[in-house]
Amino acid sequence: MKFCKKCFYSEEHPLNITFNEKGICSGCQVHDEKNIINWEEKIEKLKKIIEPYKKSKRSINNCIIPVSGDKDSYFIVYVVKEILGMNPLLVTYNNHYNTKIGIRNLSFLKTIFGCNHFNLTVQPQKVKKITLSTLKNFGSMYWHCIAGQTVFPVQIACKFKIPLIFWGVHQGVDQVGMFSHHDEVEMTRKYRKEHDLMGFEAEDLMKIDYSLTDKDIEQFIYPNDQEIENVGVRGIYLNNYIRWDTKAQHELMIKNFNYETEKLERTFDCYNNVACFHYTGIHDYLKFLKHGYSLITDHVNREIRFNRISRKQGGELIAYYSTQKFNNLDIFLKWLSIGKKDFFNYIDKFINRKILFKKESEWHLKNEFKDKDIILKKKDVNEIISFNSFSKRSKIKDNKKNYTLLGRGWLE
Ligand SMILES: [Zn+2]
Repeated sequence: MKFCKKCFYSEEHPLNITFNEKGICSGCQVHDEKNIINWEEKIEKLKKIIEPYKKSKRSINNCIIPVSGDKDSYFIVYVVKEILGMNPLLVTYNNHYNTKIGIRNLSFLKTIFGCNHFNLTVQPQKVKKITLSTLKNFGSMYWHCIAGQTVFPVQIACKFKIPLIFWGVHQGVDQVGMFSHHDEVEMTRKYRKEHDLMGFEAEDLMKIDYSLTDKDIEQFIYPNDQEIENVGVRGIYLNNYIRWDTKAQHELMIKNFNYETEKLERTFDCYNNVACFHYTGIHDYLKFLKHGYSLITDHVNREIRFNRISRKQGGELIAYYSTQKFNNLDIFLKWLSIGKKDFFNYIDKFINRKILFKKESEWHLKNEFKDKDIILKKKDVNEIISFNSFSKRSKIKDNKKNYTLLGRGWLE
């Protein structure tokens, strides 16, 4: 298996990474643009793009921002409201796997920045039915989250005739370099289906699972092209106009707005995924089984590209975290009303046996990084990490026993 000479993505990456003649991946090449681009010009360009929307009197709000209790939400709202001078409507798809810290961050977000906020909580019974289906049919417990997060803002845009949506980072640009920053790619239905939703829109689920009905999936149906065209909906990614550095951005938000963070499973990054019980846990483990890498590789690659850690440190971090066990499976199983055996049976057929092998009941990558200078031995992680700024902890004590279901309480 071929790996990038700079970061740890391989040719098996699901987002079609390419390599140049020096063996450097497209993600690393596009990342290097960050050091060349004149970002002052870029933000000025963005200000010009949004000018007509700013003047529009069609709605109380002149743009939409999809937010959660984590993942740069504070930074995006900060930029759009404080730097671009827009009046955003915040929208959230409730992903049901909420931690208390996530709820806390989201609650403060709208208060701190003084924004209107819509939240969509789909009936839990429907979300569970869909999740059982996606787990069985393509090994995903997260499809409904991605589908909901990417469809609800567009539905609101059409319904309230607010055409402009601001997203933070486009992973096709930032992680894998599928596009250059200069392409200034915007949100498309095609990219959403192919890459975010693993090829399955809501209607496609019904074709593979006859137990699902129109009623089950109705909240996840993307508005049709005519509706989108009538309103002129477009989704702009800020990372095409701002030098995107999620670590620095979160640190600014911690300092200025008291964004709260938490030590997470299977990664050193305690900034990005604090609102979800499972993003760095079960969901991440499934990612490893399917693709042979997990979130720690994304985080390590990002830090290598910013020259904040060496490749050697990166390799050691991956070795340390990617084999870590995940917790909270019991909460998910209880929520979904399935047994542990069922869960492992469902996911078994999605294990990528082409690149993984089983040793002592654990799955490992067959052909690990070939660089001789990387010692892939487990060490105490504190010895490995020379930078320790990912360390702020929340004061909130999450009991780690139940999801907080935002406005609906939880069922025992
Ligand atoms: Zn690379």
